[in-house]
Amino acid sequence: MSVKSKIVRYFFDKGGDNAAKALTRNYPRVLMYHRFSHSDSDSGKLSRSNFTDQVNYLLENFELVSIDEVVNDGNRHSIKPRVCITVDDGYEDFYDIAYPILKKYGIPATFYVTTDFVDEKIWFWYDRIRWCLEQSDLDDVRNAVSKVFHTNCEQFSSKDAVWAYAVSNILELDPCSVEEKINSLSNALSLDIPKRAPKKYKAATWNQIKEMSLNGITVGAHTLSHYSLGPMEREEVISQIRGSKDRIEEMLETKVRHFCFPNGQPSDIPLDYCSIFGELGFHSSVVAFYDRKGVRDPFAIRRHGVGSDFYAFKKSVCGVDRIGAILLNKDSKFSWSDL
Ligand SMILES: [Zn+2]
Repeated sequence: MSVKSKIVRYFFDKGGDNAAKALTRNYPRVLMYHRFSHSDSDSGKLSRSNFTDQVNYLLENFELVSIDEVVNDGNRHSIKPRVCITVDDGYEDFYDIAYPILKKYGIPATFYVTTDFVDEKIWFWYDRIRWCLEQSDLDDVRNAVSKVFHTNCEQFSSKDAVWAYAVSNILELDPCSVEEKINSLSNALSLDIPKRAPKKYKAATWNQIKEMSLNGITVGAHTLSHYSLGPMEREEVISQIRGSKDRIEEMLETKVRHFCFPNGQPSDIPLDYCSIFGELGFHSSVVAFYDRKGVRDPFAIRRHGVGSDFYAFKKSVCGVDRIGAILLNKDSKFSWSDL
């Protein structure tokens, strides 16, 4: 831990958590979740017990609000700071693990679904890569990825590390190039990728999504097929966004007003996103990074990623990340009103 981190932790534990919460109380925090597990040792997924601890902490200290509330009343004064829960992608583990806990306490949340995934036409390209690596031993994995990416993967000591390397090299490619890379990888490993997602990579069903939408879960669009919108032409971007919106509206018989960018980094956001969302009748869109702009732009709402580290979680929801983003931004002057 760096000296700066140690100092932050010291003050946080000595009452800094409450001070940060008070300073940033009018600013809504939007949390970003992805996957959940019954187990405490499932890498990359948040366990049921960790999620339960987080929810209990939120119930005691915060007001839990929907994405509509964030968009419609972002700057209102509040006694307890507001927190909005969002969950990306459309996996079944949200229905199995997190939704029952949210339902028990009447906590609103937004579930962003990739509609071709729910329709079982596709499963996520990064999960297909992981599946390929799972079927093979580490030496074969290193050789195959080295060949496909014209590099040397000898330094990677685990399949997780090789997977992260492969994904980071594919993230910003156009859909055809992504699929070419995956084909090359499965060929190099002599594998046939199943057409439908195996259980651990499966989507929620429309029946499950419908049930959730009737019980406090807002369903948002997350494109048809979860490729980055950054490298796409405008028509293709519109067809990905409109296609997922129309499909959810058809299946749930309700209007879809909220969107989530796949991957969600600055390079995944088309330049004219505001006009596209205006044209398609959206009220909000969320990204997957955090900076001082916070919730100011309704079509690029910044979110705090959540993992299993409870201290990091508390720092985000108490407002330490918010204060840090404002103080560390050298391009603009500090202003109390930003907190
Ligand atoms: Zn996603």
